[in-house]
Amino acid sequence: MSSFNPGLPIVAIVGRPNVGKSTLFNRIVGERMAVVEDEAGTTRDRLYGDSEWNGRRFVIVDTGGLDRAPGDVIEMKVQEQARQAIGEADVVIFVVDAAAGVTPADLEAAELLRAATAPVIVAVNKADNQKRDLEAVEFYELGWEELYPISAAHGRGTGDLMDAIVWALPPESSEEIARRQREQEAEAWSREEAAGRLEAYVVGSEPDEDDESAEAGVDAEPETLTEAEAGRRWDALIAAEGEETPVAIAIVGRPNVGKSSLLNALLGEERAIVSDVPGTTRDATDTPLEWGRSTVMLIDTAGIKRRGKVASGPAAERHSTLRTLRAITRADVAILVIDAVEGLTAQDAHVAGYVVDEGRGLVVAVNKWDLVADKTDKTFDQYVTWIRSEAPFLDFASILSISAKTGQRVGRVLEAAIDVWGERRKRVSTAELNRLVAEASSRVTAPIVKGKRPKIFYATQVAVAPPTFVFFARDAGSVHFSYRRYLENQLRVAFGFDGTPIRLIFRERSSVKLPRKRPAGPTGRRRSGRWPVRAGSTKPRGRAATSG
Ligand code: GDP
Ligand code: GDP
Repeated sequence: MSSFNPGLPIVAIVGRPNVGKSTLFNRIVGERMAVVEDEAGTTRDRLYGDSEWNGRRFVIVDTGGLDRAPGDVIEMKVQEQARQAIGEADVVIFVVDAAAGVTPADLEAAELLRAATAPVIVAVNKADNQKRDLEAVEFYELGWEELYPISAAHGRGTGDLMDAIVWALPPESSEEIARRQREQEAEAWSREEAAGRLEAYVVGSEPDEDDESAEAGVDAEPETLTEAEAGRRWDALIAAEGEETPVAIAIVGRPNVGKSSLLNALLGEERAIVSDVPGTTRDATDTPLEWGRSTVMLIDTAGIKRRGKVASGPAAERHSTLRTLRAITRADVAILVIDAVEGLTAQDAHVAGYVVDEGRGLVVAVNKWDLVADKTDKTFDQYVTWIRSEAPFLDFASILSISAKTGQRVGRVLEAAIDVWGERRKRVSTAELNRLVAEASSRVTAPIVKGKRPKIFYATQVAVAPPTFVFFARDAGSVHFSYRRYLENQLRVAFGFDGTPIRLIFRERSSVKLPRKRPAGPTGRRRSGRWPVRAGSTKPRGRAATSG
């Protein structure tokens, strides 16, 4: 099934210390979110970030977390790091330093990287000027036919490097293609809206008098899609939502929080064993599960179940972080398991941040609840309040306390995740949405930012999973963060979207012409019938009796 192909490709940056790996990482990731993996005993964190170039998305990993603990031989670490990169990456960027020239450590890393099946791109960094470009030629000694002289610090040559990376990536998976198509659909849809080609449908909202466009008659008669065209587009969007796909759920969390225990509690021992097929394709690591009337696909559970049999230590942890990120990109909903005794750690918050950034649904399972001493009926609420204050960006997430050991509420975790799946696919009709937006923006007007007060004309939901709304506004660039939060809250109060991030996009539109009068009869232009309310999921819900 298309939606269970692997997630984003992985591009790893390797090289000895100080060549400029993290500088390059930052340049590639830019302002996009990076996941920092804290690790004791290192002077630097490992970083995972998202990047996009020419429409291809990939995860970029700065493998630079070299242990510089006393006694460690740095060259050994470079080798270990290079080996890791060989095993996991789809493309390897081997960074060397033009100012320093070829070093023995470079030669050793090159030796290892030559054995890589993934393409290796040699980036000769600190080529800040033409003189350094010329010096870079000495790196042909490493044995690659092509060198990319760059200056990570100044951006010189990095465009060519990005082209080379994208060129070297494996062919797009069907999941990536589907995602890109969804994004393009949404984009096209909102452009049509912005151009006035789809008639804005605002119920009960007459254009207000200060709306110059109505006065001036701008967009006198917008080019409008015929009903049939709009309908076809709409049907295509709904079809793209793939109502028949199983609910893809990833169970994620730090080592030892109880992920395997939760999985086993959900599956029952026998099933866990039977389905442990060490396959050659990545899909073989997924575990299908019938839950009530829903089909659930637990993503990448082999990584969970094999725990205990694999080596531990930094290499294994790095591997598990990569697996986690991959699993998240392939899932609809992530169940983040945290340890009730330890609470929400920085690393938990980082992973949760990645879930949000990817627009996935999130259920936080506070496990080992049986170990929490002296519980009262207020303990859980206090715990939830504490988590929400630690990580305010997670306030949309469902939080449950469970015990994988005793089985307490484990079924509810899965039900909550299935519910979130449905929430992610909710579609609000344009009419309903604009009724809400009109009311919300008349109750609280947008604050003035740098002398400009944004004015929202109308909104439309352009995508599901995650629900994405485009607001057309004057001075859209001046919508204050607090106002965005206000609108998001209003949407949540009215329509739910529990457990899923929602996206609000503000687009500039200097004016909007709203139809002044609408014929009331069924033969009029009123088209509310074209916009089906899709609140709620058509997905059958599992109802299990395992909660307790
Ligand atoms: P890492 O240890 O490989 O991650 O290296 P860093 O990214 O921390 O960079 C090491 C040093 O090289 C820092 O002082 C950077 O400012 C410097 N550096 C990184 N890129 C460039 C570059 O393109 N040109 C120059 N001249 N210095 C750079
Ligand atoms: P994973 O590394 O996240 O897969 O964690 P495991 O499932 O292997 O669990 C780690 C340890 O925590 C094991 O010793 C489990 O028995 C224990 N554990 C897991 N869930 C619970 C729980 O709900 N309560 C208690 N008391 N211990 C648990």
